[in-house]
Amino acid sequence: MNIHEYQAKQVLKGFGAPVASGVAITAASEAEAAAKQLPGPLYVVKSQIHAGGRGKGKFKELGADAKGGVRLARTIEEVVANAQDMLGNTLVTAQTGDAGKQVNRLYIEDGADIDKELYLSLLVDRSVGRVAFVVSTEGGMDIEAVAHDTPEKIVTVAIDPATGVTPADAEQIADAYGLTGIGREDGLKLFPILYKAFVEKDMALLEVNPLIVMTDGRLRVLDAKVSFDGNALFRHDDMKALRDISEEDAKEIEASKYDLAYVALDGDIGCMVNGAGLAMATMDIIKLYGKEPANFLDVGGGANKEKVTAAFKIITADPNVKGILVNIFGGIMRCDVIAEGVVAAVRDVGLQVPLVVRLEGTNVELGKKILNESGLAITAADDLDDAAQKIVAAVK
Ligand code: GDP
Ligand code: MG
Repeated sequence: MNIHEYQAKQVLKGFGAPVASGVAITAASEAEAAAKQLPGPLYVVKSQIHAGGRGKGKFKELGADAKGGVRLARTIEEVVANAQDMLGNTLVTAQTGDAGKQVNRLYIEDGADIDKELYLSLLVDRSVGRVAFVVSTEGGMDIEAVAHDTPEKIVTVAIDPATGVTPADAEQIADAYGLTGIGREDGLKLFPILYKAFVEKDMALLEVNPLIVMTDGRLRVLDAKVSFDGNALFRHDDMKALRDISEEDAKEIEASKYDLAYVALDGDIGCMVNGAGLAMATMDIIKLYGKEPANFLDVGGGANKEKVTAAFKIITADPNVKGILVNIFGGIMRCDVIAEGVVAAVRDVGLQVPLVVRLEGTNVELGKKILNESGLAITAADDLDDAAQKIVAAVK
């Protein structure tokens, strides 16, 4: 689960991290009162969407010369004018895709005078089985580009869970940044705070890009991106309350209600599969035969009629779907039960696109018979290869 920048900063502030004061607003009429709560004379007006690259982003409705989704303002009037300009419009960044995201909330923040922009993130480094700091002096820019072009400028410091961030770890991170004086003191305090926040709140990612050194030498968390481990959310009701479902894919929200593992993708063949491994293999073979999957969907081991129907509704609600491939292995479930579920779901939902069904496992012959005798336009397939070729041919 992702949260907004202003929420992430609130969480980090609770652990004692240095963040600017700021006020989140959802209407331009609130901008003046928000700015008046801040000291000035520099303000920042920041679009709150679940995507990065906002500063370099472009608003669809505004001209090519218009400023991006993070803007500096030097007077309260400028804050208000920028808020009016940005709210309600669609911001397209390197991370949003072409459709962009509507900006429904702004964060009005006290502006900082920046000397240096640094990069910091905390993540679970699976290669060492530890939470690790990833740090670089090249902050404020696309870290993937830094990793590609100048990998030597990225330093990873893995933390021993038994000790947490030791003074030696903190010194190593401060050295990687070349921090001195008061900024170094700030850093030695900040790094353990960020680690504590990461572990206590079960974060999956904490990215501060940039962490800044201000002209007075102090450090500040200027941008913050936090994702939580969805499997641990049950023990963090306070973090769960930060969820903003307007930022999430409507089909994924619907799928989560039925305990379906669903991820929307860009292709045109909808997939309904049981088991994550089989789902991955199904996506691969669709690609092999020249088409792209419209989604990843694992209906799970105990797929019943209700789940199959819900899955069908979600797949067919996607206007990009030009054909559907059902690929189910009847292990725990029997193929005849699945076939009945598929037939009932098609009767219930209706079907506007070709449907290919491949069943394998217990009672497979009976399952195929049910499909063939249903009177519905369902194409039965013999194996994975056959199924993929049939659906790709039907769509082409
Ligand atoms: P992102 O573009 O979505 O990553 O948004 P950021 O919060 O990282 O802001 C983008 C850029 O705006 C930063 O890298 C800074 O260069 C600039 N910026 C943001 N806040 C301030 C501020 O308080 N003062 C100044 N001078 N620049 C800022
Ligand atoms: Mg940033």
